[in-house]
Amino acid sequence: MKVNRKRLEDSILELGRIGETPRGGLTRLALTDDDKRARDQMVRWMRTAGLRVSVDQMGNIFGERPGAEPLPPVIVGSHVDSVPTGGKYDGQLGVLCGLEAIRALDDARTRTRHPVTLAIFTNEEGARFQPAMIASGVLAGKIALEDAYNARDRDGVRLGDELERIGYLGAEPCVARPFRAYLELHIEQGPALEEEGLSVGIVDGIVAISWSRLTIHGVQDHAGPTPMRIRHDALVAAADVVTGVRRLAREIGGDLVTTVGNLTAHPNIVNAIPGRVTLSIDMRDPRGETLDRALPMLDRLVEDACAREGVTYELDHYWRVPYTAFAPDVVAAVERAAKGAGTRHRHILSGAGHDAQYMAAIGPAGMIFVPSRDGRSHCEEEFTAMDDIEHGANTLLGAVLELAGRA
Ligand SMILES: [Zn+2]
Repeated sequence: MKVNRKRLEDSILELGRIGETPRGGLTRLALTDDDKRARDQMVRWMRTAGLRVSVDQMGNIFGERPGAEPLPPVIVGSHVDSVPTGGKYDGQLGVLCGLEAIRALDDARTRTRHPVTLAIFTNEEGARFQPAMIASGVLAGKIALEDAYNARDRDGVRLGDELERIGYLGAEPCVARPFRAYLELHIEQGPALEEEGLSVGIVDGIVAISWSRLTIHGVQDHAGPTPMRIRHDALVAAADVVTGVRRLAREIGGDLVTTVGNLTAHPNIVNAIPGRVTLSIDMRDPRGETLDRALPMLDRLVEDACAREGVTYELDHYWRVPYTAFAPDVVAAVERAAKGAGTRHRHILSGAGHDAQYMAAIGPAGMIFVPSRDGRSHCEEEFTAMDDIEHGANTLLGAVLELAGRA
């Protein structure tokens, strides 16, 4: 059994026109009018495919293809929201390959024992409402529904109000229900598959993540009359920390990646010595032990940098996510499907979070990666070749068929 490449490509092009940017990317922030249009399009396609569509209290959309037996469903899904000036592949590809797998089952008149359900999760990106993956987080019981409703965007608009405004505040409770497997096809967002000439990544898990927040208190003073010898410059200490965080990844080596992605200097004007700086530190590694080693090293390098500049600081390691291991039987089904589809593939880890992470907390989950050109994503240049998409979709179809079982 194979997917219909032409039909899949047409769907990708058509959905990609909703929120398209002049340079061929996508701006479709969660719960905006364009997000509503994309959802409406998906619901039309789901109904045309004969799926029973329901919407839950978080606006997550489910379309069920009945199974022959009263068993928990195999869920395939991803998201249709994007980051600003993002690409047309992140999220949409998982949803559309899932839809295509269901259409292919219909073409072959194949009944499965378990139902097959297509899922579209609300606000995966976290570009408009924080945190990211908020709706699968509520589903998994990790985020309270009221907290999610009260998340506000930059303009102070409530998530709950926007769900209602676009007509996707559903009645179904957003709670965990048993499922046979959750499968998410997604772009790799890194360079590994392309560099090795492979079409499919069998994802074993998602790396462990640690987030820290550092506030440095220096002495704000005039940039002119203050001699260099008496300065306590918070930004100079911060610069020392930024290069130290990079050095830390080199020293520990392996797969550890470290990033200072956010930095705010105060008062941030040309003629004052910065009196206060806040910055973020993001560290990721497949092994939690590596982060256990890195954190005390981070403590020490911050202490040293601040001592050198004679400034004080607060360092808070406020968020930690352990390594998410995907279910061995789901990973094995994906591997057999990748072989069966004749793809060039290998095992891989995800360096980014996905809805699959929360789904893995409440049931057996797995992911399939397809290559990202030049490893790039969250940008208008994001691209995956149709040959690779077809291999990925056939792998997804094979895994769904195995996990849902022929009736
Ligand atoms: Zn995504």
